[in-house]
Amino acid sequence: MQNRWNPEDAARLTDDLAQCVYASRLLGADPALVLHGGGNTSVKIQQPNLFGEPETILYVKGSGSDLATIEAKDFAPVRLANLRRLTTLESLSDMQWLNELRGNVIDAAAPPVSVEAMIHALLPARFVFHTHADAALAIMNTPGAAERIRAVYGDDVVIVPYVRAGFPLAKAAAAIFQAERSERTTGVVLLRHGLFTFGETAQAAYDRMIEMVNQAEAHLAERVAPPTVAPARPDPQRPLRHELAELRRSIADAAGFPVILATHSDEQTLRFAQREDVAVVSQQGPVTPDHVIRTKRVPMVGRDTAAYRAAYEAYFHEHQARTGRSLAMLDPAPRVVLDPALGMVTVGRTAHEAAIAEDVYRHTITIIEQAAALDSYQAQPAADVFDTEYWELEQAKLKRLGRPPMFAGEIGLVTGAASGIGKACVESLLARGAAVVGLDINPGIEQLFDRPDFLGIRCDVTSEEQLIGALERTAQAFGGLDMLILNAGIFTAARRIEALPTEDWRRTMSINLDANMVLMREAHALLKRAPRRGRVAIIGSKNVPAPGPGAAAYSASKAALNQLARVAALEWGQDGIRINSLHPNAVFDTGLWTEEVLQARAKHYGLTVEQYKANNVLRIEVTSRDVAELAAEMCGPLFAKTTAAQVPIDGGNERVI
Ligand code: ZN
Repeated sequence: MQNRWNPEDAARLTDDLAQCVYASRLLGADPALVLHGGGNTSVKIQQPNLFGEPETILYVKGSGSDLATIEAKDFAPVRLANLRRLTTLESLSDMQWLNELRGNVIDAAAPPVSVEAMIHALLPARFVFHTHADAALAIMNTPGAAERIRAVYGDDVVIVPYVRAGFPLAKAAAAIFQAERSERTTGVVLLRHGLFTFGETAQAAYDRMIEMVNQAEAHLAERVAPPTVAPARPDPQRPLRHELAELRRSIADAAGFPVILATHSDEQTLRFAQREDVAVVSQQGPVTPDHVIRTKRVPMVGRDTAAYRAAYEAYFHEHQARTGRSLAMLDPAPRVVLDPALGMVTVGRTAHEAAIAEDVYRHTITIIEQAAALDSYQAQPAADVFDTEYWELEQAKLKRLGRPPMFAGEIGLVTGAASGIGKACVESLLARGAAVVGLDINPGIEQLFDRPDFLGIRCDVTSEEQLIGALERTAQAFGGLDMLILNAGIFTAARRIEALPTEDWRRTMSINLDANMVLMREAHALLKRAPRRGRVAIIGSKNVPAPGPGAAAYSASKAALNQLARVAALEWGQDGIRINSLHPNAVFDTGLWTEEVLQARAKHYGLTVEQYKANNVLRIEVTSRDVAELAAEMCGPLFAKTTAAQVPIDGGNERVI
């Protein structure tokens, strides 16, 4: 592992907190050290209190921030002496302990104090750093881990056996550290948890952390060969979308809310999912309790969600009986699925959550593979996962969670999504919490938004093969399809019928009509499996009820699309799928309308551009965003009992009224 310390950068930082921020970011820059908000750092600073008396304050990373991007404000300042004194108490409940942690913070605007703050308080050095380094975890999750750790680090470390995070861990760590520390002690190893290093300067503590990780990596490198088994590759031609939609439906049913499923069928995940002992190694506790928060529970091996759910529920009742606590059961759905044909599927309420579960479990796979190659993988018993999942502080955190956004866990697909109404529809769905796939023939679609809940696919909608390929990618990225917004369409040059080229007519029909029939046909099986039942919103046109001269191809294609939607509403009602249409008119903030065209049209009617834009009953301009918001709402609960509706969004048109 690379030591990233740069003396020139560090020399510019004069105060201790800035040094701590700098070192924290270096630690956070390496995912093999800390993952997604895992790990924490602290510095002890003497400063005057309100009465002018000197007081030592522990600045410790608050929860909710990430070491990679941490800033000074993300550290919570806590009165050190008061924290240290707590360990003289015989016992403290989780809530009492949380109250003490909070009550000793001197800044009301500070983030919540990390549960590991107490260990930072107990270690006597000025700077204390803590990571969950992969290499150390691989060694620690084997039988006889303590001897192995001793072999790696000699007498330079104090070893603390596994104790559940919270006051018991702080107390155990304090006692063992006091009893066993010596002149040589430069680190603390919490078995099946992680490493602590410390020093009087940030650089000393950082260097020691990198050194300890390097020692663990060297130990593994001497004993563990990289895996060579090549996994059986699934047939790339075999579609997975229907199976994935089925799996997603069963997991969403267990969870009680829609979920995103991200499928990862690469060498590492397939190899792991195809291990003969996958059902043994994957069903233990996590490699470090920090990971419990992210993947919540043991993976599901195979696809029998009902059996997984039943096992979880039985376990919950057993846990409740054993601990005598009265608990509200969390949803009994897996967060990671291991399947020999799919590899790894990660589950989340959002694409971001599924991506975090992916990251965490990829590191878990590496750690399990290394531990198994070293000796055998042996983590905490699964009961400890339950203890952590249901401990009081985690329960308290859950109560603070607000209502999820309207489309959390759902997936929308929008055609013609690179610009205009289509792009606005993508934004409206994203704003409501959906994961969104945007199709467009414009290659710019692939970079339209750089975020985990958006997938842009370059696609010619007149190609059946490309449409089917896009649905396949949608299912692999997010698990299925809940909402379809059919927007892609063209408007060829205005021509009277006697001058209308056959080619213009056919092209208009193929994009505005045929492509939508194909996409609806192919999407039906996915929409049918949508946890909250599928929805289709069709961007029609004012030209359906009120066609215009010179627009024969466009008007006819949109009218035919309108009939297609009505028939679909009749046919798909039994599957709970709703299809509603919007008829926009005169939406000028789209690619079709350049300033020149607008000026020419306005002049034609003897109007200014402003008057022309608002040339409707309400005298109001209709924007792409207005149309998109209506399309999104039509997919939402407001229209739960409406299908085959046709709603104008045109500011009122006298010919339509
Ligand atoms: Zn930790």
